[in-house]
Amino acid sequence: MCDNCVKHGEGKKWFLQAKNYSDELLADLRRRRYIQEFFAHQARQVGKAEPMELLRRVPKLLRPLVDTVITGRLRRDHFGQVVTLEETREIVLMVSKVVRLPCVCRRITLRQERRYCLGFILSPNSLGALELIDPSYWDGPDGPGLEMLTRAEALTLLEEFNAEGLVHSVWTFKTPFIGGLCNCTPTECRAMLGNLTYDLTVLHPGESIVRLNRATCLNCGACANRCWFGALSFDRGARRLELNQAKCYGCGLCTVTCPTQALDLIPRRW
Ligand code: SF4
Ligand code: SF4
Ligand code: SF4
Repeated sequence: MCDNCVKHGEGKKWFLQAKNYSDELLADLRRRRYIQEFFAHQARQVGKAEPMELLRRVPKLLRPLVDTVITGRLRRDHFGQVVTLEETREIVLMVSKVVRLPCVCRRITLRQERRYCLGFILSPNSLGALELIDPSYWDGPDGPGLEMLTRAEALTLLEEFNAEGLVHSVWTFKTPFIGGLCNCTPTECRAMLGNLTYDLTVLHPGESIVRLNRATCLNCGACANRCWFGALSFDRGARRLELNQAKCYGCGLCTVTCPTQALDLIPRRW
């Protein structure tokens, strides 16, 4: 169990607790302002140079300090954690409505509107965090920008995202309030880019970790192509699959590719 499970999940997975999606948390005015400012800030980033590039100019000696400050602030305000497809299903079954909305990062990195983010609504009559976002961000409820999904549609969409090789993650707006579920690859996701290119901890590993059964592995290498985090690699010379568990984020994308079920997810020991 991670810190959030201890603090906000009563020892269970914190992102499966309905209270962390509730209007009660959203009633906090500081949190409401944070959400408004978050989306306004992201809109201002479109067309600008990636601010994380500035990290390359930080002297080596100061880098650990800068990383601690940035990741500490993110943990508090905008914490992201990888979740498996199965966990996304549990979340969808817990909330009352799911809304599909334009991906913040893809607007900036691809300069395109791609609807890969899902927002959750717990109370049936509320738009939750979504009502706080400036209307210019989309064309209104049920317009092309903000699309209400039925549970069945949301579950199908998540399966399609998973088949596309997208990593699922939940995100807070002032932890522990969970405002949405993202579906990403490092090509367009600024969070994954932060982890994999700029060596920051923007996205945190999930509650699971992969396990390999050597006895049933065919060393075909198919799973290695699904891993964005470098935990699986295929040694072509030795024709052998290599697993570095320390790099595993527990996304589960590799497990569905394996023809012999040689990979499975087990609880992570933090
Ligand atoms: S974290 Fe992923 S889905 Fe969320 S805004 Fe960024 S790229 Fe889009
Ligand atoms: S090894 Fe599998 S579960 Fe772990 S990060 Fe890579 S794809 Fe995800
Ligand atoms: S896909 Fe399965 S059988 Fe193929 S290398 Fe990976 S674990 Fe082994």
